[in-house]
Amino acid sequence: MQAAGRFVVLGAFVALTAQARAQTALPLKHAPARTQTAITPADLMTRLYLYSDDSMMGRLAGSEYNLKATAYIASEAKRFGLQPAGDSGGYFQNVPLVKRQLDASAGLSIDGTALRPWDDFVPRDPGRTTRAFDGASAVFAGVLGDSTMLTPEQAAGKFIVIAVRSGPNLPPSAQVNRGALLSRYRTAAGIAVVALETFPPQAIDFFRRPQTILRDAPAAADTASPPLYVYVNAAGAKLLLGAPLDSVRAGAAGKTVHGSVSFVEIPAPARNVVAILPGSDPKVKGEYVAIGAHNDHIGFDQTPVDHDSLRAFNDALRRLELAAPNHRVTPDQVQQIHVNVDSLRRVHPARRDSIYNGADDDGSGTTSVLEIAEAFAGAKVKPKRSIIFVWHTGEELGLFGSQYFTDHPTVTRDSIVAQLNMDMVGRGRADDENGGGPAYLQLIGTRRLSTELGDLIETVNKARKQPFTFDYQFDATGHPEQYYCRSDHYMYARYGIPIAFFTTGNHRDYHQVTDEPEYIDYDKLAHVSQFVYDVAAAVANLDHRVVVDKPKPDPHGNCVQ
Ligand SMILES: [Zn+2]
Repeated sequence: MQAAGRFVVLGAFVALTAQARAQTALPLKHAPARTQTAITPADLMTRLYLYSDDSMMGRLAGSEYNLKATAYIASEAKRFGLQPAGDSGGYFQNVPLVKRQLDASAGLSIDGTALRPWDDFVPRDPGRTTRAFDGASAVFAGVLGDSTMLTPEQAAGKFIVIAVRSGPNLPPSAQVNRGALLSRYRTAAGIAVVALETFPPQAIDFFRRPQTILRDAPAAADTASPPLYVYVNAAGAKLLLGAPLDSVRAGAAGKTVHGSVSFVEIPAPARNVVAILPGSDPKVKGEYVAIGAHNDHIGFDQTPVDHDSLRAFNDALRRLELAAPNHRVTPDQVQQIHVNVDSLRRVHPARRDSIYNGADDDGSGTTSVLEIAEAFAGAKVKPKRSIIFVWHTGEELGLFGSQYFTDHPTVTRDSIVAQLNMDMVGRGRADDENGGGPAYLQLIGTRRLSTELGDLIETVNKARKQPFTFDYQFDATGHPEQYYCRSDHYMYARYGIPIAFFTTGNHRDYHQVTDEPEYIDYDKLAHVSQFVYDVAAAVANLDHRVVVDKPKPDPHGNCVQ
């Protein structure tokens, strides 16, 4: 699942006193065993220990490890005898991600004094080429929000400097609406906001990190280059204006600015894996039930943390969340958490960890789709409609793989009758989520386009020996967790394709280095996999397409939870 925030400042898990809890009995490593046609916990365990092994390095889209992970999926699809349905007869659909980073030559200079990026100024990447500013004159545009601020006409062609007053509650940096400034002063040569001192180092690291984006539409679609947008400190503002900030008024002329700031794009490897099980009924085999999960996760860090301390902290935090309305915990409550490291050490020696293995997110969904595919491929009676299996890349970075696949589907888009998405389907125990347990499953979006699909899922469930208890709370309109918008199914739904999102929900290891295969519930994962298999078969064998009876969203609009 995609993270909800832009960047996360990890809490003070050094100020650590939760007790070590008896950990699960599952081992850290597991020797792979031969898989069988049937969906079994043992097969899932073999697959998931392999798929979320440290050697996969967190499977980040745009890294070689995403290629390694997807190579495993494709080799399995081939072994099952599925038809390749990616680019040019293969199992892969390459997704054109690029890594954007600041050009090494980027810099500003004023009267021969150089300002260095990340130290003296922080440029923000607009995602495209910025306007040239070399030779432009700096001018003080005033204090943000004041009536004396320069008009857009007065700022045209200038390198404007904007001051931000310290507010009582918010740091100056938090009071700046970058989009609004870029829109108001779109004809300026550059915009420098004086707020750099108020950014925490984590924020600057975040801006500095290369940004991976989908470069699909031709860049030429954005013809007008926006002005350069940077943050500077008071010393930089003084250099630009030739006088201290508090001594000048709006409109005061400054110095001539030289230099260039540009971003470069490096192709970043990422690919979907796409495979088809042909349907058995010639009349409807041209229609597809799509089953999906995401093959990527969030990579690794350069700074290892102590696995057990982190997990004990997050365990305590999760207990607080489960007891709080809407799972919202106050900073004061977080401050109260202390981890007793000595008690942890009596259980284990320290384990330093820096790899986000993503066993549940979305190793569980990925291996589940593999198990479902293996079961369909080995079934004596094939479903009437075809099944298309898509393991999407770049979900964590912005649903890029599913966006690309649905914009450039390798089968006709209208031939996809429904999409069943699994993201994080290996947890949902009582200590993971309120109401959790062996039968706990969250459903999202199942009736948002097709009442019939939602009803059919209920019917398939009632026929099970051990039916699931569905939790629909996260499907609620406007639910703050926004699950409907945070995984790949939405990219299908935006085109009017009925979807069902299956998840066992959030837990203490979400987007942590502790999301490891030893914490997965393999019986549960097998039950969910068999259930999604049964739902797919039911949809594929219907004597009609599931009926869309709800309004379709705008495929290019914003997702609405
Ligand atoms: Zn995720």
